Amino acid sequence: MLTRRNFTVGALALAGLAASGLRSRAVAAPDALATLSDGQLVLPTDYVLRGIPDAALAEIGVDRTALGATHAAACNVTLLRGPDRLVLFDAGAGSNFMPSAGKLPESLEAAGIDLGEVTDVIFTHAHPDHIWGVLDDFDEVPFANAAFHVCQAEWDYWRSDAALAEMPEDRQSFVIGARSRFDAIEDRCTLFTPGKEVLPGIEAMAAFGHTPGHCAFVLHGEGDPVMVVGDAIINDPISFARPDLFWSADQDPQAGATTRTALLDRLASEKMRFVGFHLPRGGLGRVETASSGYRFVPEA
Ligand SMILES: [Zn+2]
Repeated sequence: MLTRRNFTVGALALAGLAASGLRSRAVAAPDALATLSDGQLVLPTDYVLRGIPDAALAEIGVDRTALGATHAAACNVTLLRGPDRLVLFDAGAGSNFMPSAGKLPESLEAAGIDLGEVTDVIFTHAHPDHIWGVLDDFDEVPFANAAFHVCQAEWDYWRSDAALAEMPEDRQSFVIGARSRFDAIEDRCTLFTPGKEVLPGIEAMAAFGHTPGHCAFVLHGEGDPVMVVGDAIINDPISFARPDLFWSADQDPQAGATTRTALLDRLASEKMRFVGFHLPRGGLGRVETASSGYRFVPEA
């Protein structure tokens, strides 16, 4: 259950911040990163591959008939430990979304971390597997001492009339669920804008498409920067080999494909370490160019 991958990020890199144009005040910095398992999503293979032509799959060596009826996607919550902060990227699914998910509290406990120690939770987006974990079985927020950080565009979208109007019948619970979680954290929530720091050394980037306000984050440390991509890059290996293919789980498939392609290009060209929420083997790795598109190279 525990997929912990520690590595050094180091103290805040002022040079890195200056290069990125961000403000460069010297404050507490991230110094270690790990991923913790929230379990996995078990999804119908037909859903995962919906809209992707068989011919495109065959070209990249994926045999639809060999995949079985269901697809299990890991859920990796990123944990960033600094001298005076303990930051989570997303809060997991909680206990009401899917029996195979919502394991973050156990993973934290196994790592020797009390939920009350978490100082900040930064959300990539507000889908159930990322935000429903801010409420426990008693409809209380288990992160007793945490501040929450949500992208303004994501906050506005899920609270809009359009969200409910546009959402397919089988996903209406996504809207209701996001709103109830936002309500629960509202008095402890800060809204951020892409291009700015959410916390010192943590740069938010617009990675819209999967949801209207989906964000990725670049963690600037003394060593090389690390990107947390959330669900902007998932569906291994298809999204790597053919990032241009539209994927039905992206609420705006065109924007999702554009974002995915741009992120993969940057990660490959800069050889940047990154974490993908649903990628296998802890989700931490790098991207390499391949004969078709790109390839995920997990660290574990
Ligand atoms: Zn997800």
